[in-house]
Amino acid sequence: MTERSRVSRPRPPAPDPAVSASPRLVVPKSPELAVPARLTLAGRGRGRPPRHLADLTMAERRAVVADLGEPPYRATQLSRHFFGRFTQQADEMSDLPRASRDRLADALLPRLLTAERELSCDAGTTRKTLWRAFDGALIESVLMRYPDRVTMCVSSQAGCGMGCPFCATGQAGLTRNLSAAEIVAQVVAGARLLADGRVPGSASRGGRGGSEGRNALPEGGPGGWVPPGRTAGGIWGGSAPRDNAARVSNVVFMGMGEPLANYASVVAAVRRLTDPVPEGLGISQRSVTVSTVGLVPAIARLAGEGLSVTLAVSLHAPDDELRDMLVPVNQRWKVDEVLAAAWDYAAATGRRVSIEYALIRDVNDQAWRADRLGSLLAGRLAHVNLIPLNPTPGSKWTASRPAVQREFVRRLAAAGVPVTVRDTRGREIDGACGQLAASVRP
Ligand code: SAH
Ligand code: SF4
Repeated sequence: MTERSRVSRPRPPAPDPAVSASPRLVVPKSPELAVPARLTLAGRGRGRPPRHLADLTMAERRAVVADLGEPPYRATQLSRHFFGRFTQQADEMSDLPRASRDRLADALLPRLLTAERELSCDAGTTRKTLWRAFDGALIESVLMRYPDRVTMCVSSQAGCGMGCPFCATGQAGLTRNLSAAEIVAQVVAGARLLADGRVPGSASRGGRGGSEGRNALPEGGPGGWVPPGRTAGGIWGGSAPRDNAARVSNVVFMGMGEPLANYASVVAAVRRLTDPVPEGLGISQRSVTVSTVGLVPAIARLAGEGLSVTLAVSLHAPDDELRDMLVPVNQRWKVDEVLAAAWDYAAATGRRVSIEYALIRDVNDQAWRADRLGSLLAGRLAHVNLIPLNPTPGSKWTASRPAVQREFVRRLAAAGVPVTVRDTRGREIDGACGQLAASVRP
């Protein structure tokens, strides 16, 4: 039995042309699917988030400032506040004339996200935030501080329309695309916390274990942080010394949403994240990873952007029969086509592609599937990142047995394929994407 997927009519925010032109997707209703499968490439129309300077190039920011009757260099000053000092509070901008501050901040630095809920674990080095956007849409971001780097995991959409049955986000469906600035704001929020020394340096302090605080950020996130040097209450409160400060070094698009289904905003966000201050945040392109379910035309388009970001492909099965079910979009673009697009991407960028594979007990963890995966990837510019499944509430699926996981790793390594097992940070705070948002939905 099959069900025609709904492809909504384009309304703002517009669906991405890279995927909206695809033929209708036919998705089988399988008893193993936790929800009736439905693919949605465009979100319900909700209106656009307010314009923010992180949506704009510097030339566009200057034009907005000029329209307000201000000298265009004010665009650079505002950009330095946001991307260099991680603030968008008008009263922190002492280099701007008092009379202009509020007007400029209102026009280019509206508050986009408000922290709804904070969770932390790993002695405070892993912090997950549930954000509420201007229209009530909920998204999640996660900050993970390691001894040698800080990774921010960001959402690219509120929800996701791709319907992968093992994923909490997929089960909730797509609400809407995020704007570039809403994506960037998640990273800037983390940058601000780190700059203020409010994230412990490593897992050495305190004990393990989750902690939780509702509305713990008193001033609410981007645009609402406590100025550097001051402290705040709640679990993000500033008891740590500022010599503990750090920077965001890596960004992974592995939170809620399918980044390549929101192509224009994601590419704009990547540019803002990687352009030097004051145009952007100055993170290295090589330290940004875009993870996709396998939207082939959009992978090809990304390969032509001249960016050297890492591509991660969520494969989860080496055979179409199983992948059709685990990753419903496989019914449109098959394993061979997805991998061909990945190798083209590697050739165009010189970047090793990361093949993501969630190990699900007795579903995709058989030895023969490890061998099949090994033969597909051997000799390619690729490595495999195995993710022990983080079970979603109500699902009968769970992670593979340790011995089975070890054997899967061994077989890939024997085929000459580099393989790592993803660190499972954040498990105790609903680490799998979408689980936190799902838990607060009415
Ligand atoms: N939509 C994109 C990026 C967001 S999901 C994608 O699918 O690639 C980020 C990663 O988390 C993907 O590899 C996805 O398959 C994986 N994931 C989703 N739910 C999971 C779960 N319950 N356990 C383990 N990995 C999961
Ligand atoms: Fe969407 Fe990725 Fe979840 Fe699939 S795994 S439903 S593509 S967020």
